[in-house]
This record gives sequence, structure tokens and C-alpha cells, in this order.
Amino acid sequence: MESVDVVVIGAGFAGLVAARELGHAGLNVVVLEARDRVGGRTWTDHRFGHDLELGGTWIHWVQPHTWAEATRYGREVERSPSADEAYWRGADGSTRQGTLAQFMALISDGQQRVIDDVREAIPRGIEPTAGNIQALDSMSIQDRINSLGLDPEAQAATESVWVGHVNAPLDEVGLSSALRWVSATGGHWELMHEASATYRVVGGMSSFTAAIAADVPGDVRLSTTVESVTHDADGAEVELADGSRIRTRRVVSTLPANAISGIKFDPPLPEVWQRLGQERVASQGTKVWIRARGHVPRFFAYASQHDPLSVLKAEYYGVDDDGEYTLLVGFGPDHTRIDLESVAAVQAAVDAFRPGIEVTGVTAHDWMTDELSQNTWMTHRPGQLTRDLSEMQRPHGVVHFATTDNANLWGGFVDGAIESGLREARNIAKSLRR
Ligand SMILES: Cc1cc2nc3c(=O)[nH]c(=O)nc-3n(C[C@H](O)[C@H](O)[C@H](O)COP(=O)(O)OP(=O)(O)OC[C@H]3O[C@@H](n4cnc5c(N)ncnc54)[C@H](O)[C@@H]3O)c2cc1C
Repeated sequence: MESVDVVVIGAGFAGLVAARELGHAGLNVVVLEARDRVGGRTWTDHRFGHDLELGGTWIHWVQPHTWAEATRYGREVERSPSADEAYWRGADGSTRQGTLAQFMALISDGQQRVIDDVREAIPRGIEPTAGNIQALDSMSIQDRINSLGLDPEAQAATESVWVGHVNAPLDEVGLSSALRWVSATGGHWELMHEASATYRVVGGMSSFTAAIAADVPGDVRLSTTVESVTHDADGAEVELADGSRIRTRRVVSTLPANAISGIKFDPPLPEVWQRLGQERVASQGTKVWIRARGHVPRFFAYASQHDPLSVLKAEYYGVDDDGEYTLLVGFGPDHTRIDLESVAAVQAAVDAFRPGIEVTGVTAHDWMTDELSQNTWMTHRPGQLTRDLSEMQRPHGVVHFATTDNANLWGGFVDGAIESGLREARNIAKSLRR
């Protein structure tokens, strides 16, 4: 039977970084990835004549782990187009049109008040459960917004911005998700806003993960699905879908909380993982690329959390045999509300808040029905952060868990995935040296 020091399950950012670190520490490491590509929930694919990000896209220099990797591999960023026009849904459900400045003025009071107590709740983003957050963690973002007494017009706009950030209906998402990301940007919501949706990687996320994969001193095996992990104090046996087995001293699982039940662990996973697998984290939305006829002036648009699509913006322009076109990127809070293969369904969703666009094509990847992820960018349900985070970081015997879902600083983002991979590689290298 093949025997290695460490098996890393999954070749997303967490797995690739963990494997690179372990290999550079002199350990014999192998990465097993079920997909036929690396990158996990980041995936740059050529569609509609452009390299489109179907998953994670925007990074920022206030994300320290991501930025260190970008520096290491010489990745540069470019700005997504800023908007000349803004559209949003008013309290009566009809569409408003204005400038970016007008929209920002409408939301700024509500945005600030949602996160006003961030410094007491999470004084340091690197310790997301250390402050007063315990007392607030049963609260959803919707609870907080409802408590502010905003005028209806400002409340509708404030909700629409938050649903864009958290990718789920606001009554299902813990206030902690809003607070921890704003804490990561020093308490400034505008910077959180910029960090999460402005700068994309030149050459695409897939070129970024390919660079890390090429730097792993060990095998990265694609189309290799792990079925089970049997472990005891001496090590583990990892069984693959083809029936073969690998003996190893340590295992790193990088599976998202929602998908981890896809592997049978014996002894079974700690209760925290089993419970999360049933309860699920909050994020449940969708991302779609839309091809629109003609040159649509640069804009962003926000609908409400009750719509199939809640955010829409212009990202790319081009010309082909049919003439000029614009590529828009859209996000919705619930993947079951819209058929992303239907041009008619997407046209109707767009018409509801950004009139005057003719949809000629749509393309997307449904990460929620994808068995290997079942999640987009992780947001917690109320209570999950303080109840679960430290337990999720604890190894189970020789099995370690590295995933953005159990990161401290930018949990849910690429940065959190890298943080978790570095953390578990360090822990394993230390324990094996001992
Ligand atoms: C639509 C969308 C938009 C996003 N936007 C952003 C953004 O703009 N900025 C940002 O920072 N983040 C964003 N994110 C989040 C970001 O992409 C993720 O947080 C990050 O990529 C997670 O990395 P990971 O390594 O923790 O997990 P994953 O990337 O999910 O890696 C886990 C890997 O395990 C593999 N796997 C699962 N089961 C098995 C098995 N049984 N055997 C072998 N392999 C298995 C999976 O195939 C996968 O490759 C977005 C995510 C989505 C989906």
C-alpha cells in the first residue's frame, strides 16, 4: 500500500497552501482532488469570449494571507468597472435611478448603524469570538436592521446591500458575519465593501491556484475522490473511489462544512461537524453571468432580498458577430429561486430592477447543488460562530480541518482558506517533528 506523511483532501486554496507548506517542511505529501481541476470554489472558465470567474473573484490588500500569496506569485489586480449609474428598489418596490453618490448617501447611516458596536463586539478580527460577540450572536442581520428604526427607503436600500454581501436571506444570517468582516477592515464598512467586490486578479483565479499547485513539492492528483478515512492514534487509511488505499500519518480535510458528510470517517466526525452538516451554514445563493445586447452604460443595481437576483453590475464589454455586447454579473440570495439555464427567467429577474436590458445569454455554476461544495462563500447562521468556531479548528486525532469555514479573520473568503491551510500545516509539521 502507498504510504505518505500527509494526505490533503481537496485542492482549493486551503489544500494547496497546506500541501505546499508541508512539502517545503520536508514531509511527503499528496493532494487528492475529486474535480478535474484545482481551485475548488474558485474557477476561471472561458465563456462568452472572456475568462469569467464562476466562483471567488475579488481580493484586496487588506486580506493579509491572500495578499502575501499574490506577492509571492506575482499576481496583480485590476479594478472592476466603477459605476456611472445606480439603480435600486424603493420601499414601494419600484425602481429608483440615481448616481453612485446618491445611493451611498442613502445607505451610509444604516450601514454604519448595523456595525456601530463592532469595536466592542469583535475588537480584533483575528480573534472573532473574543469580544462581546457572544451576547449578540443570536441576532440575525435582519434583527439588527429592524431595530434601527430606519426610514423605509433607507431600510430597503440597506437590506439590499447586506444581502449582496452575505448571499442569503438576512433573517438567516448571523450579525456576526457582518461584524467580523468589518472588524477585519478596522471597523470601516466602506473598506469592507471595497475589499469584497472591487479588485479582481489579472489572469484569473485559476492562474493563481495553478501557480500554487506548481509549487507543491508532491503529487496533486485530480479526478481522485476520497470515499472514507479510517483513523486511530497511529495514523489513517484513506480509501479512494477506485478502491485503492493510502496509508498516512496525518490527514487534512479541506471540505466545506456543508459537504463534509460526503466522506465517511471512522471513528465518526466530532459532533460539531455532524451538526453543521445537518443544520448547514447560512449562505445559499447564486452567481450568474449575463450577456446583454449592446453597450450598457456602467452601472450597479440592487433589488431586495426577496427577489431572485438582488445585485447586478456591468463587468465586461465586447463586440462579436451580433455586434456590441455587455457582460453583467448578478447575485441572488437563494439558488432555488431562479433557473440559471433559462434566459427568460433571468430576463424577468433583471427586468424587475434594472429595466432596459435585453438578455441574450446566461451562464453559471450552481455551487449549492455541486456535491463537492454545497456552499458559496460561507456565512454563519445566528449562534454558529461562537458555538462552533473553536471546535471546528480542533483536530480529531490525526485528522485536521483546514477550510475557509473555520478561519479566524476572513472566514468565508479566499483569505480565510489560505489562513486555515497555513495554520494546519504548521500544526502538523510541529506534531510530526515532535
Ligand atoms: C460564487 C462565489 C463567489 C465568491 N466570491 C468571492 C470573492 O469575491 N472573494 C473571496 O475572497 N471569496 C469569494 N468566494 C469564496 C471563496 O471562493 C472560498 O471561500 C474559497 O475558495 C474556499 O476555499 P477552500 O479551500 O476552503 O474550499 P474549496 O475551494 O471548496 O476546496 C475544497 C476542495 O475539496 C474538494 N473535495 C470535496 N470533496 C472531496 C472528496 N470527497 N475527495 C476529494 N476532494 C474533494 C472540492 O472539489 C474542492 O476542490 C466566493 C465563492 C463562490 C462560490
